[in-house]
Amino acid sequence: MTPFTAYCACEAHGPLVPKLFERRALRPDDVSIAIAYCGVCHSDAHQVHNDWNNAVYPCVPGHEIVGHVTAVGPEVTRYKVGDRVAVGCLVDSCQQCEPCSQGQEQHCQQGPTPTYNGRDRVTGETTYGGYCDHIVVREKFVLRVPDALELESASPLLCAGITVWTPMREHGVGRGSKVAVVGLGGLGHLGVKLAVALGAEVTVITTSAAKADDARSLGAHRVLLSTDQKAMMAAANGFDFILDTIPTRHNVNPYLMLLGRRGALVVVGAIDLLEPVHGGLLIRNNRTLAGSLIGGLAATQELLDFCAEHEVLPRCELIDIRDINTAFARMQANDVKYRFVIDMATLQHVQATP
Ligand code: NAP
Ligand code: ZN
Repeated sequence: MTPFTAYCACEAHGPLVPKLFERRALRPDDVSIAIAYCGVCHSDAHQVHNDWNNAVYPCVPGHEIVGHVTAVGPEVTRYKVGDRVAVGCLVDSCQQCEPCSQGQEQHCQQGPTPTYNGRDRVTGETTYGGYCDHIVVREKFVLRVPDALELESASPLLCAGITVWTPMREHGVGRGSKVAVVGLGGLGHLGVKLAVALGAEVTVITTSAAKADDARSLGAHRVLLSTDQKAMMAAANGFDFILDTIPTRHNVNPYLMLLGRRGALVVVGAIDLLEPVHGGLLIRNNRTLAGSLIGGLAATQELLDFCAEHEVLPRCELIDIRDINTAFARMQANDVKYRFVIDMATLQHVQATP
């Protein structure tokens, strides 16, 4: 066992505080990783605050992890000490079921093991995420960070990026697709960049008029204010694919209305009840209302390689880990441009208690 310092929540309404934990000794197929950066996802705040009623305390969040390999078990073949690697939302799955064999580990029929707030498949111990300086992960669940991607800005690809990439690939977003991204936050800003890189014509639908210039600088062709009913009506039937990243319960009907024939609205943000959906809006234009959950390992590697090739980089605000509670508060006040990323070197200034 190796001791380490991590920022954790001890209860739903308390702050994140530094504490000492222990990581398991390496199993034969494990990789040990020194974490250089970890992104701050809105899901981290949902988990810490127990919004989904499944939190386990103490909870060490963080599933946008990048760093370097520091040690490998004897059966590891793909990585060596010093390699640039990443870990996303999953650290294990059964590897036997149909979804696992099709590279959709996030849908493992036995339930995948999340990077934090999960149970290790061997020992049953709680899994602890990336708000700390190192992590031990089964080789299969470790990804390679291409040299062309700066580690500092790559981490948000591991959750925000793959969450928007999966439905865009599944729904065939490409050259000429008319795409709208609802909510310009961590997920949304990558939705814009990736859809543009895939050749789509992209509109940002936002509640924040002040984000219009940013939306354009991220590559969006148009910006729609969701509170501007006239503009929303004028945009009716205009989109093939809408990605909805709103993080709370909301009304999808105003967005469904914007879909053209056989268009799809994919909800990725609200892991929550939605307001009642109007059947007439679904029936007209044969619209689809769908959802999507992160993505599998092969797709995540594909995304990392695509971003390296097309120079798609998240827009990050680097923070000291001691400012994590302020970052959470700002994220919930919709004040993020566009992903907080913890610089893990700042952990050296922190004194933790057991
Ligand atoms: P974020 O950075 O906080 O961005 C969310 C954006 O949604 C905000 O920037 C804001 O954009 C808009 N928004 C916020 N509150 C709103 C409201 N009440 N009504 C309308 N729009 C609102 O969050 P994120 O990290 O992108 O995560 C978004 C959600 O996705 C979270 O709930 C997270 O748990 C979930 N998530 C799901 C998956 C999955 O697998 N499906 C994976 C990761 C995260 P504007 O200012 O432009 O309106
Ligand atoms: Zn996330």
